[in-house]
Amino acid sequence: MEAEYGLFIDGQWASPPGRARFETTNPATGERVGSFVAGTADDVRRATAAAARAYPAWRETPPPKRGEILLEVARRMRTAKPELGRLVTQEMGKVISEGLGDVQESIDFIEYMAGEGRRLFGETVPSELRSKFCLTVRQPKGVVACITPWNFPTAIPNWKIAAALITGNTVVLKPASATSRCAAEVVRLYEQGGLPPGVLNLVTGSGSVVGNALVEDSHVRTVSFTGGVETGRDVYVRGARGLKMVHLELGGKNPVILMDDADLPLALDGVLFGAFGTAGQRCTATSRLIVHEKVYESFLNLLTARLDRFPVGDPLDPKTGMGPVASADQERKVLEYIELGKKEAKLRYGGEKLRGGAYDRGHFLRPTIFETKHGSRISMEEIFGPVLSVIRVGSYEEAVRVANGVDYGLSSSIYTRDVNLAFRAIQDLEAGITYINAPTIGAEVQLPFGGVKNTGNGGREAGSVAIEEFTEIKSVFVDFSSRLQKAQIDSETAS
Ligand code: NAP
Repeated sequence: MEAEYGLFIDGQWASPPGRARFETTNPATGERVGSFVAGTADDVRRATAAAARAYPAWRETPPPKRGEILLEVARRMRTAKPELGRLVTQEMGKVISEGLGDVQESIDFIEYMAGEGRRLFGETVPSELRSKFCLTVRQPKGVVACITPWNFPTAIPNWKIAAALITGNTVVLKPASATSRCAAEVVRLYEQGGLPPGVLNLVTGSGSVVGNALVEDSHVRTVSFTGGVETGRDVYVRGARGLKMVHLELGGKNPVILMDDADLPLALDGVLFGAFGTAGQRCTATSRLIVHEKVYESFLNLLTARLDRFPVGDPLDPKTGMGPVASADQERKVLEYIELGKKEAKLRYGGEKLRGGAYDRGHFLRPTIFETKHGSRISMEEIFGPVLSVIRVGSYEEAVRVANGVDYGLSSSIYTRDVNLAFRAIQDLEAGITYINAPTIGAEVQLPFGGVKNTGNGGREAGSVAIEEFTEIKSVFVDFSSRLQKAQIDSETAS
């Protein structure tokens, strides 16, 4: 199934002759999925220059017209969904229902943003002076760089592209190297949807070359980055030198709190999906289970019994519960954490690479559970794999202290039947997202998405606030008094 791709710059797909290429592989089988140009700093300059040239006309295009193009992209993506969902599974390894879900999330968000083309609301505000009218309007920022991770290989690029485009910006996308084919197919759908040349450009290649060049490029006014904390910190510092707006969506260490009155069968389904869905490689994955001592043993027994019947294997098989982790690098990193866990915690389940038969061709790990104490490294650091740290607590107050006692604050959850406790948790949990009686994963595109503490730098994607990242607000004062009026000076006393 291997396919060769060029860079997409100024409306043209091109593979400059003699240029180095790199490949992506299927983490379940080791088969090659695609071959891509290893972009250079010069490619980045050509792409941002094309985006800068396309900007004035795109900015002038009425937002509802931009929305029509997005709707056409969404329509084409719906038709392509079975094939594109399968590609997500083949290039990234998540099970097929989640591969299709990745594409559905893209469609949902593109449609949602298309509607934004008929809103893009500003405000009208009273003036302190007579015969004067005040309002705000939203304006695009210019050329936007979007840098994306591999775990949602269509959804995250679309979250950024659709919001940037509807607000009138032009875009250069640098996707995660590991999922370049998914990104290229997404860009192709935008091309086919009727986007003018230069409005969306794709430069594949490494973070250290293409990513750095984009962040430092003088045409780029805003960088929208999703990835790990260390990369994000570096991108933030580099962007700051150019006084760029840098929007960061980073990692998580997301807790589920399980209270003693919880509906245990419901929580069981939720924890299984939250911790081991996408093989734990979601920024919102449930990586800590904080359990009240009264239900601790009984719940762990239920959980491990269910894992005995949880099929790990071919992600294209609809019966499979968990596929491989996404790459050899991922496998190595997660196995290192598992070895660390064996030293500092009690291994309750799994803790190994799966071997034999088809497993030997891919990066398959057994779902893993450690019983640990709050403060161990495995309970504090983002592992980004199918590893769940379970922590025993004696009260709601202790559970919240543990939940909040990490550097991250993306998603959180509590299972309880006590409505008062549920509302207290909404108030108490330091996170951008809180679920009640549901796992830490399951975002919907019409709600804001993002976190507190080291999970980012305060912005939100998705929801109607997604447009804030990509717009400047202009304040407008219209004086129809036909004389010079001075704010703060010509003040009138109310009579
Ligand atoms: P990553 O290693 O930080 O890479 C993210 C992106 O940055 C990739 O496109 C990467 O390119 C690029 N990059 C690497 N070095 C760069 C540099 N010096 N300058 C500019 N760009 C650079 O993260 P990942 O492993 O792909 O993704 C996993 C992380 O993403 C996890 O921490 C997860 O929690 C986080 N994440 C967060 C959210 C959220 O919304 N909060 C959502 C999903 C994932 P290459 O691929 O070429 O290295």
